[in-house]
Amino acid sequence: MKIAYGKLIKESLKARSSSYSPYSKFKVGAAVLTSGGRIFTGANIECASYSITICAERVAAAKAVSEKHRKFSAIAISSSGREFAYPCGACLQFLYEFCDDMTVFLVKSEKIFEEYKLSQLLPKQFHL
Ligand SMILES: [Zn+2]
Repeated sequence: MKIAYGKLIKESLKARSSSYSPYSKFKVGAAVLTSGGRIFTGANIECASYSITICAERVAAAKAVSEKHRKFSAIAISSSGREFAYPCGACLQFLYEFCDDMTVFLVKSEKIFEEYKLSQLLPKQFHL
């Protein structure tokens, strides 16, 4: 594991503390690593109108993209749940927009995580 990935995993765990999840109490943190080596973090943001809730992965990605970092190499995702929190389909498609393929870490702790490629989690992407 590259050193940057260890930091990425730590940042995803820290990002959970920024979660705004008053309804589900399910806290998710995400940290995106750009191809330039920058890390952007995000947390899930819930809303009383549930359907417009935003996942941590898309918050982190949007922060990076809005600062013109538009190529990702990895993301780490952690949650307050007992199981690994797999990204939802919307987030997988959104992440694909900004990578050829990227490494996805599902994190329980600094030492307990799973590693995938985005193409494993979303083998058939939508293309125009
Ligand atoms: Zn999602």
